Amino acid sequence: MSADPVSPVPRSVHREAPPAVTAMVRLIQDSWTKAEPYLPELTQFFYGMVFTLAPATRDFFPINMDVQRNRMVRALIHVVQMVDQPDDLVPFLRHLGRDHRKFGVEPQHYEAIGTALLATMKRQLGPDWTPEVEQAWAEAYTIIARQMQEAAAADDNPPNWLATVAEHRRISWDLAMVRLEPQQVIPFRAGQYLSVEVPQRPRLWRYLSPANAPRPDGSLEFHVRAVDGGWVSRAIVSHTQAGDVWRFGPPLGRLRVDREQDRKVLMIAGGTGIAPMQSLLDGLAQYGENPKVQIFYGGRTREDLYVLEGLKMMASCNPWLTVRPVVEADAPSGFEQGTLADVVTRYGSWPDHDVLVSGSPAMIRATVSRMLVAGTALDQISYDPFSFD
Ligand SMILES: Cc1cc2nc3c(=O)[nH]c(=O)nc-3n(C[C@H](O)[C@H](O)[C@H](O)COP(=O)(O)OP(=O)(O)OC[C@H]3O[C@@H](n4cnc5c(N)ncnc54)[C@H](O)[C@@H]3O)c2cc1C
Repeated sequence: MSADPVSPVPRSVHREAPPAVTAMVRLIQDSWTKAEPYLPELTQFFYGMVFTLAPATRDFFPINMDVQRNRMVRALIHVVQMVDQPDDLVPFLRHLGRDHRKFGVEPQHYEAIGTALLATMKRQLGPDWTPEVEQAWAEAYTIIARQMQEAAAADDNPPNWLATVAEHRRISWDLAMVRLEPQQVIPFRAGQYLSVEVPQRPRLWRYLSPANAPRPDGSLEFHVRAVDGGWVSRAIVSHTQAGDVWRFGPPLGRLRVDREQDRKVLMIAGGTGIAPMQSLLDGLAQYGENPKVQIFYGGRTREDLYVLEGLKMMASCNPWLTVRPVVEADAPSGFEQGTLADVVTRYGSWPDHDVLVSGSPAMIRATVSRMLVAGTALDQISYDPFSFD
């Protein structure tokens, strides 16, 4: 399991878990609380064991393992602790299983990871590793591995796709747009995201959202912001060249507009979180009639809203679309001032709207929580999980 994004707050009203499952999760959580302070040592032992049991798995990871840090172990533990929330977990695991085909993961690798996980916990917990605790961890891991493997086995798509960089354009010192031409068309839907491996950072997969709807020629456009200390984003922004070949995993994601439902749509996008919204709008713009869409597009300053002119132009010929720019300070005329969370909640709870949120982890967290407090129902809101750091 790689450093995949995990949902930050529950998305759905859960079915009550059976008492045995609740007890299993409690045992896992209590034992993890005791082990967690030793995460660095634990991680080192875990990887050592995985690479001994299944040496081929070493090729799934970057040469410099420091970059991987604690990601996989933390992702694994997080998922193990969610086994009492099957409504959220099962679809996520099935995505993850399909996604892991891009690494060349095979059934014996799942076995090695499970064995290493249990051995790591046993070594760490000592006398607290009772037969009940062992059974809880083993059962939870079995559920996870089975879901992932079944989904992987049922997927007829290629395990990954290649695409060639046709254009790399620097928009500012920390932002670039990259256009690629795929070697085979990637079957994504507007609003989805893809995992990407770039030649400058082999085996460091990251998620990026195409900023366009699927096109007949299959070309894809990405907006990439270099984050401070970022291994991959900085390499993409500074060193991508035409002719580079990128590798993609299967499309993932929940952001979508259902035109059949005819429900109003509220889009909230911060920074490069505008990319999946642009993709959705690009898809909608192919139709004359659409549900009413309002998009709040925010950044710290006016300069951060790098696609605002394009959005305004789109709104000028599509009456179903309203664009509301938001900046955190010194708002020019026609802009609203505040964080996106401040501004959208000033309008109340947005009844009768489907709400789509996209942006940095902090922005998604703040916006979703504030909207819930303002009275928006959880099942009105969609967002893609954010990275696991
Ligand atoms: C569903 C999804 C879609 C995404 N779409 C895009 C996209 O279209 N364009 C894009 O530029 N990025 C997008 N991202 C973020 C991207 O996947 C990477 O996380 C980001 O580029 C940082 O990777 P890195 O290797 O440079 O940083 P890392 O080396 O992984 O991390 C370096 C530091 O940056 C912090 N960090 C990691 N990610 C972020 C982030 N998103 N915002 C702020 N700080 C961060 C880490 O906590 C760490 O301190 C998306 C993420 C997800 C989960």
